[in-house]
Amino acid sequence: MKNIAVFLDRDGTIIEDKHYLNDPEGLEFIEGAIPALKMLQRGGYKLIVVTNQSGIAKKMVTVEQMNAIHDKLVGVLSLNGIKIDDIHYCPHHPQDNCHCRKPNIGMALKASKKSGIDLTNSFCIGDKISDVLFAGKFGGKGILVLTGHGKNEKQEPVPDYVAKDLYDAAKWIIETGSKIPKNQNVQEANIAIVQNKPANFNNKNRNNINQSIQNNSSQNKNRKRFSKFRKFHKNPNKPANPK
Ligand SMILES: [Zn+2]
Repeated sequence: MKNIAVFLDRDGTIIEDKHYLNDPEGLEFIEGAIPALKMLQRGGYKLIVVTNQSGIAKKMVTVEQMNAIHDKLVGVLSLNGIKIDDIHYCPHHPQDNCHCRKPNIGMALKASKKSGIDLTNSFCIGDKISDVLFAGKFGGKGILVLTGHGKNEKQEPVPDYVAKDLYDAAKWIIETGSKIPKNQNVQEANIAIVQNKPANFNNKNRNNINQSIQNNSSQNKNRKRFSKFRKFHKNPNKPANPK
């Protein structure tokens, strides 16, 4: 049987966003984060951290410094009886157009292969709309937390759930999230993005998304909300910036 994961953004979601944190001394857990991770672990979810660390490309953080921060993060959680199953990071600059920077799904595909993750039943929790897009793109559900940058993020597309913080997000996944259909907005928005950037997408995932759209009974209910998003993007079928 395949594993189901909760992909977790790091800065602004699990720990306070300290803007290119490069010292383990500055590591500070967001209130409720530790009990939240414990709840998810007890629920049987694999805990996988996925973090964009462009500070490495910008020479503001070294890989060694980041590893020291991750060692402390894993260590503190371990003392609390929590096992982080894996940490994946993207060291690239936003302009590198890499495959691994969220919302691209390189890190999810890598985790899926390495840890046998069933991506379509998995979740991502983060404080940026790119975390929600990331989830939609790998075929899972995306939750925006209002900690970190979350309060300032434009909620387009509409996340599957908007949570006060990681604890609220974990509670939603356990109580509700695995039982309800995926948010059509996120799925459709990602198809629009995929059409603009075919090189960063994988066909198997596209089929999963298409299938989930066909199977999704809440399509009509969400159509109205999606039309708002469509207006925002003008024409999702037409590449905005052909390269
Ligand atoms: Zn990358």
